[in-house]
Amino acid sequence: MKLSDLHTGQQAVIVKVKGHGGFRKRILEMGFVKGQEVEVLLNAPLQDPVKYKVMGYEVSLRRQEAEMIEVEATHEEPVSQESRRPEITVALVGNPNCGKTSLFNFASGAHERVGNYSGVTVDAKEGYTDFGRFRIRLVDLPGTYSLSAYSPEELYVRRQLVDSTPDVVINVIDSSNLERNLYLTTQLMDMHLRVVCALNMFDETERRGDRFNIETLSRLLGMPLVPTSFKTGRGLEQLLGEVVHIFENREGHDEYYRHQHIKHGHEIEEGIANIQKYLKGNDLLRLRYSTRWLALKLLENDEAAEKVIADLPECEQILLARDQAVRRVKEETGDDAETAIMDAKYGFIRGALHEAGYQRGEKDDTYRTTHWIDALITNKWLGFPIFLALLFLMFEVTFTLGQYPMDWIDMGVQWLGDLISENMSDGPLKAMLVDGIIGGVGSVIVFLPQILILYTFISVMEDSGYMARAAFIMDKIMHGMGLHGKSFIPLIMAFGCNVPAVMATRTIESRRSRLITMLVLPMMSCSARLPIYIMITGAFFAVKYQSLIMISLYVTGILLSVLMARILCTWVIKGDDTPFVMELPPYRCPTAKAVFRHTWEKGKQYLKKMGGIILVASIIVWALGYFGTMGVAPSLEDSFIGLLGKAVEPVFSVQGFDWRLDVSLLAGVGAKEIVASTIGVLYNGDYNFSPLVAYSFLLFVLIYFPCIATIVAIKNESGSWRWAVFAALYTTALAWIVSAVFYQVGSLWL
Ligand code: GDP
Ligand code: MG
Repeated sequence: MKLSDLHTGQQAVIVKVKGHGGFRKRILEMGFVKGQEVEVLLNAPLQDPVKYKVMGYEVSLRRQEAEMIEVEATHEEPVSQESRRPEITVALVGNPNCGKTSLFNFASGAHERVGNYSGVTVDAKEGYTDFGRFRIRLVDLPGTYSLSAYSPEELYVRRQLVDSTPDVVINVIDSSNLERNLYLTTQLMDMHLRVVCALNMFDETERRGDRFNIETLSRLLGMPLVPTSFKTGRGLEQLLGEVVHIFENREGHDEYYRHQHIKHGHEIEEGIANIQKYLKGNDLLRLRYSTRWLALKLLENDEAAEKVIADLPECEQILLARDQAVRRVKEETGDDAETAIMDAKYGFIRGALHEAGYQRGEKDDTYRTTHWIDALITNKWLGFPIFLALLFLMFEVTFTLGQYPMDWIDMGVQWLGDLISENMSDGPLKAMLVDGIIGGVGSVIVFLPQILILYTFISVMEDSGYMARAAFIMDKIMHGMGLHGKSFIPLIMAFGCNVPAVMATRTIESRRSRLITMLVLPMMSCSARLPIYIMITGAFFAVKYQSLIMISLYVTGILLSVLMARILCTWVIKGDDTPFVMELPPYRCPTAKAVFRHTWEKGKQYLKKMGGIILVASIIVWALGYFGTMGVAPSLEDSFIGLLGKAVEPVFSVQGFDWRLDVSLLAGVGAKEIVASTIGVLYNGDYNFSPLVAYSFLLFVLIYFPCIATIVAIKNESGSWRWAVFAALYTTALAWIVSAVFYQVGSLWL
């Protein structure tokens, strides 16, 4: 509870003091430190300030200030040992791929996705670990290179740091890439947060033979640096130890816990001071932000910071002071303030590294192998064929190798169906079990092995760093589509499932490219469509053509997405492309454990879906097919589902679909697997249409309405229903047109 919640006469023990910088320091100096008893002397509802007694002195605090102090009332008995553990909230901040998620997993024992490119972590994930007498609550934030507000991730991390005020920040640093990683650290220093640095990937740094004095650097930065490797868990204990130390308020008592001001040069500092004068006068602001940081952000022309001060009475003067400082910087250095601030930060970093005797090693450089492999994989002539060959290999292995376990599961399903058929008396219950549940769910569950294999490939490509290269190779082509190389990763991920792919678009800086990527994503055949393809191609086409048919569907999807992207970027969503840097992280051999874990996580989701929506849908489809207007229907045609299918039949007559196909398409709106399970229930393997209709149907399934989950994801990511509805409508219209044209033109030939 908050100190401000206490009533007159109540006593409590201080748990922690939130807030930033100067404010926090002053409060601590007044005696409001952790573990101290405090008594409320006078707290009337409208009274401000409120009087307290702490360490035998009477002090008065403003209500706003008292809100920043957390206390535990002494008269309440703690419920259990567990809940009495004081909690430390720790946010993990760092560049993409520096090992935040690995740290998170190591510490919390959780199974979070680690990936070798930016953007796997798109949300804050929370976990906890007990350390000593504390419970440390870890928040894994998305990777960012800086805390300016260019990408949604940067803004997100910034908001988390300001609004949720973590007690301590762990800044995870890729120590084999110190200079760039420390840039973010300097920004954290500006924010006056309590930071502990994990010098991660220290195994690689050592292997390369890098040398620097950690202690000196630690002192220069004013924060503890702990060498770690989250491949092995090395340094974790020490890191958490430092977190506890810093939480227990040793700021100022120890040279490793010191607030450092980075000097940004005379003109900038003068500007900061001028702006701070106004900011410091505002208490509400002072509680939430480090005024120095806010001033710096204003000098950088940061829009979010301008919004913060927009309502202040001094807003105009502040902006005037800002503009004056910016003008002076321009006059003196020839640069805009943003560049000057950045230069100053890099200057600080270089200076600090120099002083710490930083020497880059020459031994076994991970980057050397990386360069060598990169030269091959991103080669102008070889890169593309290698990429296509890998894709081909992926699908080939998925289908051929997956066939065996698929047959086994199929046999099992059949055996179970027969077993029930023989041992139960006829009736609706038996029909529901055999035709509804086993027929429906069974026809989808057989694809689990293939889906697992596909995900294994995708996991290996992500974890090894190849996916980032694929994006690099595709950059030019993507630009031709009006997209970014970065759009490519979500597009590939969409082959697995469209929903995480839509979320992965968050890494794309330009809103326009992000939106287009999201909208064309559903054209990528997700694994839920696979069962339908396999089922139909298996029934209608000779074995030697099956792979080809399958690939033709994937390729059609890709070509349509290119076409749609072009159309969207030319006519619908206009705007400019922003240039961006594409990261090429070093190659890392993915651990079997990680790959297995990622694959299994997906498999689990698939099984969950099986037991949920697909089970329910199968039963509904079965029931609609079993009953009619007059009780149990004599034939499928007289059942409810027959009537429903007949009702929509005219809409699909151009494609030559019969009512059963129509019904399965309707059912597939929930999830595409349901198309397969519905066909399983309705046809029972007895198909009565031509291969031409079969292929038109496959085209329709490929293109139309992705599924409810994807549409909701698009709504969430684009921020409005408008684009979600647009995606739903345009895909369905396109599916109708493409399949109709294919069928009509095909009929002329066949
Ligand atoms: P995040 O983007 O910051 O969450 O980084 P991840 O935790 O996803 O890690 C990126 C990659 O670096 C993964 O392949 C990890 O296995 C690998 N990795 C993480 N920590 C270390 C480390 O200390 N040493 C080495 N060699 N690899 C690491
Ligand atoms: Mg991560």
